[in-house]
Amino acid sequence: MTTPRPRTPVPLLRFLGATGTVTGSRFLVDTPRARVLVDCGLYQGLKPLRLRNWSPFPVEPTSIDAVVLTHAHVDHSGYLPALARGGFRGSVFATGGTLDLCRIVLPDSAHLQEEDAGYANRKGFSKHVPALPLYTQRDAERVLEQFVACAFGHAVEIAPGVHATFRPAGHILGSATAAIEITGAATRTVLFSGDLGRRGHPILKPPARMPAADFVVVESTYGDRRHEDVESLRRFEDALARTAARGGVVVIPSFAVDRTEVILLHLRRLVREGRVPNLPVYVDSPMALAALEIYRRALGAGGEEIREGFAGDGDVFDPGRLIEARSVEASMAINEERGPAVIVSASGMASGGRVLHHLARRLPDERNAVVLVGFQAEGTRGRSLADGAREVKMLGRYVSVRAEVVAVPAFSVHADQDEILGWLRGTPRPPQTAFVVHGEPAAAAALHDAIERELRWTAAVPRYLEQVRVD
Ligand SMILES: [Zn+2]
Repeated sequence: MTTPRPRTPVPLLRFLGATGTVTGSRFLVDTPRARVLVDCGLYQGLKPLRLRNWSPFPVEPTSIDAVVLTHAHVDHSGYLPALARGGFRGSVFATGGTLDLCRIVLPDSAHLQEEDAGYANRKGFSKHVPALPLYTQRDAERVLEQFVACAFGHAVEIAPGVHATFRPAGHILGSATAAIEITGAATRTVLFSGDLGRRGHPILKPPARMPAADFVVVESTYGDRRHEDVESLRRFEDALARTAARGGVVVIPSFAVDRTEVILLHLRRLVREGRVPNLPVYVDSPMALAALEIYRRALGAGGEEIREGFAGDGDVFDPGRLIEARSVEASMAINEERGPAVIVSASGMASGGRVLHHLARRLPDERNAVVLVGFQAEGTRGRSLADGAREVKMLGRYVSVRAEVVAVPAFSVHADQDEILGWLRGTPRPPQTAFVVHGEPAAAAALHDAIERELRWTAAVPRYLEQVRVD
């Protein structure tokens, strides 16, 4: 099914995304014998970036032999259904955990695309009549059939003369670094960090040691920061205790995959240590509950990326009084909860989802609290709340903010600068070049400088669509 294309005489690496931004991860490895795409993410956030989702893909999708996926987050996987819609028929290589999570993440993303198109049609503001979704649930289902699940630590031939090896990245379930080995006149390895997790993840082991590589492509989301974990956890605990004492409800807008699990584990520990009361904890997000099931199964099965010590400990995600709101009725019933209680609901930046209903109901009462547990991007309601807005607009009306708002940014599942440098230091020999991607410009520049200063490696921050030789 591959279209004839000019073969490159030397292996090349081309940056099709995640340059100057944390979304749209897409990297092309072009060799004399094959063309491989590493990650196939959706652009999110600012409009000029989002418009790239709608531009023709920089290379013909039919010319790509295989895709390698580091993890299931939409900014790494969410363009896959569009690539398949554009004619890509090769295999998508990913770990089993990534495949399991993609089974919920990709159809959900397609659902949102369809909703957006439907909304544009109803409001009549699309240039195209009728507005079409970027892709449909059917496209998502189809590309899921192209997945090939791979074990950690084994080299798999993914295309002629190209092998991939996944190693745990400790970021979310199934997340991996991907070493792409190109055999030819000389053998060269290009290593992709994907998103790197943190040493202190409560479920996942820390990222595996960086293997030897000729080139490394490393993320820099928090390349200019140091997480203050102890301080953050104390703020989380204090906010819960204060709100419980005044009989209020704590609303936690949370990213559906991984963050919800991390929050529940922290809550359980705080309850067990007697630091916060054993309150009803509602999880109200269909996607978060689907992901929770996948995490429970993965913990039960154990495996290379999972920490030890979870066997035989009941449901580790139940802080004591866990209530899973599966139906719309169950979600509505939470409105009757008088408190004290905790509600965990998506989305994490309050840009949509069921959490909007809870915020609209709970924000006007000063007994309540909203705890923001992740990065809040510019232009989102989460950011407005973090910045101290007195009222926010949601569901078509203005809502007064009288509840306490507490930001706990260090619940992040991204490594900070020290952790990234620590991972890079683990390699047996320095690479020729470290390419710094997946960061806002200041973060990427800070990590670039730190790599040159502290490791004395050659580092570069590639531009969008830039191409380099990797022979
Ligand atoms: Zn990620």
